[in-house]
Amino acid sequence: MVNTTSYIGRFAPSPSGPLHFGSLIAALGSYLRARSMGGKWLVRIEDIDPPREIAGASSAILNTLEAYGLEWDEEVLYQSQRLDIYQARIEQLLQDNQAYYCQCTRKQIQAMGGSYDGRCGQLPQALTQGAIRVRNPYAVAHFVDQHMGQVSVDEAFAAEDFIIKRSDGLYAYQLAVVLDDIHQNITEVVRGCDLLEPTCRQESLYQILQSPVPKWLHLPLACAEKGRKLSKQNHAPAIDNLHPQASINAALAFLGQSPVTTESQVSTMIAQAVEQFDLALVPKQSEILLDT
Ligand code: GLU
Repeated sequence: MVNTTSYIGRFAPSPSGPLHFGSLIAALGSYLRARSMGGKWLVRIEDIDPPREIAGASSAILNTLEAYGLEWDEEVLYQSQRLDIYQARIEQLLQDNQAYYCQCTRKQIQAMGGSYDGRCGQLPQALTQGAIRVRNPYAVAHFVDQHMGQVSVDEAFAAEDFIIKRSDGLYAYQLAVVLDDIHQNITEVVRGCDLLEPTCRQESLYQILQSPVPKWLHLPLACAEKGRKLSKQNHAPAIDNLHPQASINAALAFLGQSPVTTESQVSTMIAQAVEQFDLALVPKQSEILLDT
């Protein structure tokens, strides 16, 4: 497909299990948006949390995307290949006094009223071990979403100096996702509404890093019951790679789109879905219960 705009979108699954109907929505939604804008669609595997990773999940996810006719541009980016870059950026932030070590426990933070008050960043003698937090002078508490409109989060949450490297040595999602979206020149982030709140932190981080902020577009989340998203953890069934047709039309219906003609060639179905895609038809709800 010829790219006629500079739009670059992405799908960024964590390999904590195979793709399920909930993650298919994010994959298909971000794909349809990118292609209907004449843009690129990249895939990034967010494999920075080995304890939560399931062996074989990355390739299972990629196989499913292929089976569903969701062809990505460029090579898949693996976050596990970029740890040195995350580390270098953190060291720079520490050096510039834009980040600091913190040893506060969950219990101590609870006693502060539930939001971290920044105390380790004020010590006369900075700590040299523990989790690493970024100083967050921007405290972004509002942003405009391309689909959900004006979004606001709790001010205290927004103002927190948040963790960018955990005390167990793992890099935080917030840091890796922002550095990689910058690295891949993503112009619009399309994903599920479970990530509305973290978006404020990410937007603060863009400002700290002095990088232009992408557009945000959050899609309704498929939920098993109110407040409980379908997830790998609550055993959402994996979707069927051999018979993707029914799931494609179910995912399109979820996104408020008309069904496409069922064909043996999924690429034909997906092309028709791109042709028909209309963001205005996507329900403006943060979650939708599935009758399972
Ligand atoms: N890796 C995250 C997840 O699977 C999504 C990150 C994102 O889209 O920003 O929940």
